[in-house]
Amino acid sequence: MHTIHLKKGREASLLRHHPWVFSGAIDRITGQPASGSTVRVVDHGGNLLGIGGYSPQSQIRVRLYTFHEATIDREFLTQAVTRALAKRSHLLGPQRSACRLIFGESDGLPGLVVDRYNDVLVCQILFAAMEVWKPELIDILREASGCSVIYERSDASVREKEGLQPRAGLLWGELPDSEIVIQEYGIEMGVDVVAGQKTGFYLDQAENRRILASYCRDKNVLNCFSYTGGFSVAALKGGASHVTSIDSSAPALAAAQSNVARNGFDASRHDTREGSVFNILREMQQQQQRFDLIILDPPKFADNKSQVIKAGRAYKDLALQAVKLLPPGGKLVSFSCSGAIDLNLFQKITADALLDAGRQGEVVRYLHQGEDHPVGLAFPESQYLKGLICRINE
Ligand code: SAH
Repeated sequence: MHTIHLKKGREASLLRHHPWVFSGAIDRITGQPASGSTVRVVDHGGNLLGIGGYSPQSQIRVRLYTFHEATIDREFLTQAVTRALAKRSHLLGPQRSACRLIFGESDGLPGLVVDRYNDVLVCQILFAAMEVWKPELIDILREASGCSVIYERSDASVREKEGLQPRAGLLWGELPDSEIVIQEYGIEMGVDVVAGQKTGFYLDQAENRRILASYCRDKNVLNCFSYTGGFSVAALKGGASHVTSIDSSAPALAAAQSNVARNGFDASRHDTREGSVFNILREMQQQQQRFDLIILDPPKFADNKSQVIKAGRAYKDLALQAVKLLPPGGKLVSFSCSGAIDLNLFQKITADALLDAGRQGEVVRYLHQGEDHPVGLAFPESQYLKGLICRINE
């Protein structure tokens, strides 16, 4: 088998079971691994560190499947998929018909994401080695999940770093004629797996939507970066008197309106505003609008460490502008899905925003990605979503 020999002293992170080998850690390669080949990774003395997949174009040259001897074959992948599905079996049921089934490295299947929406699976392949195993994975996923449709949404820009072309389309079966409508803790949401963002829906916020609902009774809620209105519908379900959804995407806002109607809420309780949240929050200040609770769930601002400072400014500006619309006792619910910004830093950024606004506040609850997006203990990169529910005082 092809072997990746690490430079002296570069084995430490693998010994701690971190699953990535960066190009700079490699001393030499024996054999001629092609893109996606299975490789052995050894330290400078030739001791085995693990078995991984090779991706010659990526800075992350190898992603590990195991930290011990193993044969990577259909049987190995079947076991990994089966384990991942078993971990989530308690999440699915009448209360919930959608969740992430496979979350890449956290499930021992690097670069593979699979979301389940009713009996439709949507997968994203973000690693050259997983691309090689695609035909096997289709069979395995079908058998293990019992789902009749597999749709691919490998149209994420990170594929380029792997030297892979974007791809989207059916892998198995036929999409249902009617819209896919999922159940999520008492609300129903339409999911467009073909044209929606990512795999169609932000499942990582499912638990947080449920938690948020309990803060919304009789509240006038502003949902910034609403997408298809997940938090908006949850807020109405929680008894919000009115919700305003802001998003820059017109189709997302149209979907939010249908989702509000689908759940039986009167259209008079929900408004949408299309445009940039950064501008609209400022306009709302000029119009002296006030809200009791404001949600900020922006897209990822920092893709890596080099973008942290710029992203930090954007998160701070959002919090600052939002706080200006909150009376004393109001709540700010602020999220960051940038893995490069950890909770500690995010809390500091939020504290700075309040300081600039001349306000006091405290965190009443910390939020994070749902348990179908588990965080590998030795893989902090998998912890990306963090949120604060802050009470804003005088
Ligand atoms: N909270 C949502 C997910 C939000 S995803 C949920 O629970 O489903 C982020 C959203 O922000 C996307 O819908 C995207 O269209 C929108 N967006 C990105 N930049 C924006 C901007 N500057 N102003 C308004 N919306 C923006």
